Amino acid sequence: MNPLHRFFIPPDALAPNRVILTGTVVHQLRHVLRLRPGDHIIVLDDSGWEHEVELTEVSRERAEGAVLVRRLVETEPQIQLSLYQSLLKGERFEWALQKGTELGVMEFVPTLAARCVVQHLDLNAHRLERWTRIVQEAAEQARRGRLPRLQSAMLLPEACKRMVRAGPALMLHEGARTSLRQVLHELDRLDRPPLNLSLLVGPEGGFTEQEATLAERYGVRLVGLGPRILRAETAGLVAAAAILYHLGELESPG
Ligand code: SAM
Repeated sequence: MNPLHRFFIPPDALAPNRVILTGTVVHQLRHVLRLRPGDHIIVLDDSGWEHEVELTEVSRERAEGAVLVRRLVETEPQIQLSLYQSLLKGERFEWALQKGTELGVMEFVPTLAARCVVQHLDLNAHRLERWTRIVQEAAEQARRGRLPRLQSAMLLPEACKRMVRAGPALMLHEGARTSLRQVLHELDRLDRPPLNLSLLVGPEGGFTEQEATLAERYGVRLVGLGPRILRAETAGLVAAAAILYHLGELESPG
């Protein structure tokens, strides 16, 4: 049997035994997937639980269904990985959002660095809406139980402060003397493994040396990913994948 289609829905669409769907999801159900009463779907309210639903009505404006089973989703990584990605041109930032969501990133923080082509923090409503949709579709596709958070854009000093407050904070920097691998081995030796880990990735032109010094002053560790220079959107994903692999988050279930 094909896996059931999954939809993140607003929590208030869900009552204990039924769900009422409105808006774009109805168009998706009715016209794109051609689902009918009697078909099953999974709905997610971003609580970490999934609800298997049998559709009872699919009309032009709304769909309704009965909740059959409620299950805890077991696909979320233990580690809360935050990706502070410097703003990138065109579709590259969207690519990082989509692939980061598939991998298991829990939070994205658009960061404004000196060499960003975009030089303002104000991300217009249209762009935010598009980014939110990209994250949601990737989370549905990857069978996640939680939606990664999309934070407001921030300047580098604010980003560094926030990262360090949350736990170990790493800046990917080509000039770093320590590798990501070395830092991960150091974290293994801690009595209590960290619950959060933040990764800061530069823009297309990289971080300036002043920015690297500033980040270090805030307590962010500079780490390298080896001798090859990766594109900015590749670097964050490679680091996220390496961290999740190191922590056993890419193992087969069971
Ligand atoms: N200015 C750099 C150059 O031309 O040598 C390129 C910067 S790179 C395209 C963009 C960002 O990706 C960097 O700021 C860094 O965060 C990350 N990055 C890429 N390759 C990396 C590596 N080998 N080690 C650490 N970070 C890397």
